[in-house]
Amino acid sequence: MNCSQQNLIKNGLLIILSLCLFISCEKKEKEKIIKIIDDKAIADENQSSDWLAYGRTHNERRFSPIKDINVGNVANLKVDWFLDLPNDVSLVSTPLVVDGTMYFTGTMNIIRAVDAVTGKLLWQFDPKVREAIKGKRQVGWAHSRGISFSEGKIFTATWDGRLIGINAKTGKEIWTAVTFDPNRSLFISGAPKAFKGKVLIGNGGTEEGPARGFVTAYDAETGKEAWKFYIVPGNPADGFENEAMEMAAKTWNGEWWKNGGGGNAWHGFTYDEELDVLYIGTGNGSPWNPRIRSPKVDDNLFLCSIVALKPDSGEYLWHYQTTPGEAWDYNSTMDIVLADLKIDGEDIKAILHAPKNGFFYVINRKTGKLISAEPFTEVTWASHIDLKTGKPVLTEGARYDKGPVDIAPDSWGGHTWHAMAYSPQTGLAYIPTLHRTDKYSDEGVVYDGWQSKEFSGGIGVSLSPADKQLSDHPSSLEAIDPVTQKKVWSIPQKDFWNAGILTTGGNLVLQGRSDGKLLAYNAKTGQIVWTFNIGLGISAPPITYKINDKQYISLLVGFGGGYARGGIDAYSLGWSYRTQTRRLITFSLEGTAEMPALSPRHFPKPIVDQNFIINENLAQKGYNEYWKCFNCHGDGMYSGGLAPDLRASGISLSKEAFTAVVRDGIKNEMGMPSFPDMTDEQIENLMHFIRKRAKETSVDYEHLVSKAIEKHSEE
Ligand code: CA
Repeated sequence: MNCSQQNLIKNGLLIILSLCLFISCEKKEKEKIIKIIDDKAIADENQSSDWLAYGRTHNERRFSPIKDINVGNVANLKVDWFLDLPNDVSLVSTPLVVDGTMYFTGTMNIIRAVDAVTGKLLWQFDPKVREAIKGKRQVGWAHSRGISFSEGKIFTATWDGRLIGINAKTGKEIWTAVTFDPNRSLFISGAPKAFKGKVLIGNGGTEEGPARGFVTAYDAETGKEAWKFYIVPGNPADGFENEAMEMAAKTWNGEWWKNGGGGNAWHGFTYDEELDVLYIGTGNGSPWNPRIRSPKVDDNLFLCSIVALKPDSGEYLWHYQTTPGEAWDYNSTMDIVLADLKIDGEDIKAILHAPKNGFFYVINRKTGKLISAEPFTEVTWASHIDLKTGKPVLTEGARYDKGPVDIAPDSWGGHTWHAMAYSPQTGLAYIPTLHRTDKYSDEGVVYDGWQSKEFSGGIGVSLSPADKQLSDHPSSLEAIDPVTQKKVWSIPQKDFWNAGILTTGGNLVLQGRSDGKLLAYNAKTGQIVWTFNIGLGISAPPITYKINDKQYISLLVGFGGGYARGGIDAYSLGWSYRTQTRRLITFSLEGTAEMPALSPRHFPKPIVDQNFIINENLAQKGYNEYWKCFNCHGDGMYSGGLAPDLRASGISLSKEAFTAVVRDGIKNEMGMPSFPDMTDEQIENLMHFIRKRAKETSVDYEHLVSKAIEKHSEE
């Protein structure tokens, strides 16, 4: 071998060596790019780049350790990018951020993927909910609270009851599962929960028909049903599905199955990766009146409970019932937050839970045993929770069995689905809290033969304004120490409804308000450290993420949720249907985006048609039809922005146009369901009622508008 040959070999070896190095480097690089996002990764509280689950991690704390944006510099927060969503209405959902891409669901369950750094739209997936609802009666709303991610897939559940697996890279559908018969009066507004190769979903509709609540888990790869868990027992004559149902049936009497029983789990699913347990929050009874449901009032398991299940099989493990024999719509479908607490020197794996009933519960999640429960808002239905039995001690006549009674919280609850948060840094839970009292009465209720039917369920109780509101503010943000149950700080708010919370390692709490402002608070003290006027009511919770060493805060803006359907207060906010463009907005400390201002508050003016002779008798009949419309068009026909204000709509002036919309469904594309079996007479009656409402509310219009503007003029 000569020198040059030797050199050649040497060089060859070198080339091979460097090639090897290059390949291994590239491999490492690729490993870095293709992150493995399994349940362990989704449960990791220290991960700081992404927002991988509804509550950021499996623990549902909505706490991010990122502290680049903090109490000291949050005043410099500016808009980095924004995306207008002109066809969306109600935006209440939590976006996810996975590996540089943001995914979110909008109105009609349309999923969008955007570059989380630039806001550029990458793909859009339309599950064609508009087509699915065509010609069908619908209940519930066209909005969704979120989506779920696991191993390269996005999961979404649609209003009409489908669960869909989508390829996160391409936006293409992988599978679809139909989770209930679409002709039933059920709906989905909740986020599915992906865990351990499965995806869980429940549904809502307790008030709409004879509903028997259930949750179903599907295989994440194939969409095949893996297991189903019923929340209340069915007719014993048909046999019980499992021992848990047999046990639950002992807490019911009469023929409860005829009205379904209820318990629908429409929100509040948490997977405990550490203990390998799945917790579901369950809903209220169907109907609300417990004496119709099950005449000798009893606990009625598993209504208003947290139920712990084996994630692989859906088998029952334990339950804790927050509201036995519930009578007030006190869902326990609110967030189930996992926290590690030190209580009396002992390390406790805890659940934090603030259901509608107004008590803040700390529960040992290994045993299901109650540790503490104290009111976080005004509570009149129970004096306290007995820590020995774990049960509430009811006040006299609270179940309206001794006549009409004022009850707090009302059926909106002390806290509803708006996300709460828990910061392990401050040790505080942050609860978007509601303060309302309402009068409950069973006067006029015919107990004998009471039967709810699909799409006309009813609740078996009448509600009217309370003699006195117990709080001088309708909502507040409460910071509570779950170890001591002490309120550490409290911020009263002027408007009802109360969006979800984000808390961060920068000692921040961020929350949007119904009045269109996004605020940052000092997480320890509650001091306001930043306010940004977005100019449109906020109902969604903010999220945060970090890419290329830069922290972002992002949220969807579009007043929504059940309250946004209307009523005089929601209408008075001025976030009217399609007036202010709904948006996705992302902030950073270096943001330079110029975001055009939104249209000012708008209050649709009732049209008084002098040529229309209102027949009082027909208008009264129309009032009885209106319950089919009020879920979108508003209590008292005051729209809160989810749908057009019928008093101000030209369509409701023409029988031809009105029939085309209501019966023939020509506005299906916009989300208006059709009512194919509505008769000419019923349509006529509705038109008389609309004109009547327009006329009687027009008298007070100017006064109402000036009051609304004045209320929000300062600051
Ligand atoms: Ca309910």
